[in-house]
Amino acid sequence: MDYVIYACERLRANGFRITPPRRQVLSLLEGEERALSPYDMRERLRQRRVKMDVVTVYRVLEVLERLDLVHRVYRTGGYVRCWRSDLGAHHHHLVCTDCGRVTEITGDRIDEVADREARENGYRVTGHILELFGLCGGCQAGSERQA
Ligand SMILES: [Zn+2]
Ligand SMILES: [Zn+2]
Ligand SMILES: [Zn+2]
Repeated sequence: MDYVIYACERLRANGFRITPPRRQVLSLLEGEERALSPYDMRERLRQRRVKMDVVTVYRVLEVLERLDLVHRVYRTGGYVRCWRSDLGAHHHHLVCTDCGRVTEITGDRIDEVADREARENGYRVTGHILELFGLCGGCQAGSERQA
């Protein structure tokens, strides 16, 4: 299933209408493996002859984030589409600091360790965010070629 169809179904199921800005942002994110800032998105939309101000982009992202259709990438301040339903809403991200590509991973074992550490320190933790950053396979190959 493609991302836009999946996302529209999810929006409807949660009582949200498919407004033109929502559809436009979804179709922009669909083919994008990298995290984009709302300003990048405005620019990309402009290239597609869609005029959308940053406030509108933020509003759309806020809804999409609530439904786990996008996730924030804290390292870069961008947003990336997320929809691998097999991973569930809670997962982790690998972030390439060179090209900005984001890969979703489950990392269930990381969660177990984190929960245990929290418990052992007397905390009842309600959530966490984990990003691993470095170079993706493509960028590693690129830097070897240059060396
Ligand atoms: Zn994600
Ligand atoms: Zn990369
Ligand atoms: Zn986790």
